[in-house]
Amino acid sequence: MVDWVALGWGENRTPRDVDLRSDTVTQPTEAMREAMARAPLGDDVLGDDPTVAQLERLAADRVGMEDAVFVPSGTMGNQIAIAVHARPGDAILVEDDAHVLWYEVGAPAALAGVVIRSVTSERGVMAPETITARALDRSLHTPGTRLLCVENTHNRAGGTITPSAHFAAYRRICDEREMRFHLDGARIFNAAVAAGEPVTAWTSHVDSVTFCLSKGLCAPVGSVLCGSAPFIDEARFWRKRLGGGMRQSGLLAACGIVALLSLVDRLAEDHDRARRLADALRVLPGLTVGSMPETNILMIDTDAPAATWVDVLASRSIRAIAFGPHRLRLVLHRDIDDTHVDRTIEAFRKGL
Ligand SMILES: *Cc1c(COP(=O)(O)O)cnc(C)c1O
Repeated sequence: MVDWVALGWGENRTPRDVDLRSDTVTQPTEAMREAMARAPLGDDVLGDDPTVAQLERLAADRVGMEDAVFVPSGTMGNQIAIAVHARPGDAILVEDDAHVLWYEVGAPAALAGVVIRSVTSERGVMAPETITARALDRSLHTPGTRLLCVENTHNRAGGTITPSAHFAAYRRICDEREMRFHLDGARIFNAAVAAGEPVTAWTSHVDSVTFCLSKGLCAPVGSVLCGSAPFIDEARFWRKRLGGGMRQSGLLAACGIVALLSLVDRLAEDHDRARRLADALRVLPGLTVGSMPETNILMIDTDAPAATWVDVLASRSIRAIAFGPHRLRLVLHRDIDDTHVDRTIEAFRKGL
């Protein structure tokens, strides 16, 4: 028998701090822990974990695509998509502040060998004509542009939503130019819930989509990459190549199933709390809330250095991240309730 007490594993799993650093800090729910204990398992690299297969079916159906593959991270999902859609030397279009460009450690160059052409935007939303202007035709001199990659919601822009109508316009451009279209939909369910539209309003226009189970949806690990059956066949090849083949990963997929079945609609609560926090903080001296949060991410510009705020807030048990020298990011999620929001407002009101 393992001595749980000796390991220091107490009963109380509730963290003391109000952790607003990211929605990735969410703890798996009790239903997820139960699902992990119950899930039938197999060896997924050998293709016989029934729980992984069930998650992949559920995810593909949800986004209206033929097939899906469970991957360890959103980064791996995006990078597999890029590698499958483009060839080394091709150009791909991404927004200037995209996760793919900022936070995936140069993987498009290192793994797929593609050239990134970045596109300006208005708070994360690219005008269709800007995309056209940045696309290159393949010639004796220039790389062909093979792929458009769009992030929705947009993290660095503060959880902003690119409307589904834009996706229809992007699709037309991709069709005209024979470009593929990938959605970095790490938080696409936040967009869908906030806009009050089914997720297929966006995914019906793209060739592939990655979404995270491990953010607002509370699963401990994992993302899903969805697309056509031939695309997912290739994606499985790339997942194995990158070391992402997992064995009894039904343990993790079980949490993803709980997430998709029961935790999507509640994202609206996080959006409500983000707005409540924004309303309370925008009137405080030394802080600027540029625009109301559209989803669960709140960006605050600070007169004092953001790092100073991070330290002062930490001393009051509120955890946030600096997203620039004078910018703080606060992210709402399931483990933040109304009392946590009150405590956060109180901590800011005390000033520096
Ligand atoms: C979190 C995130 C990802 C993937 O992140 P992982 O930590 O690799 O799961 C991709 N795109 C965006 C926009 C994200 O916010």
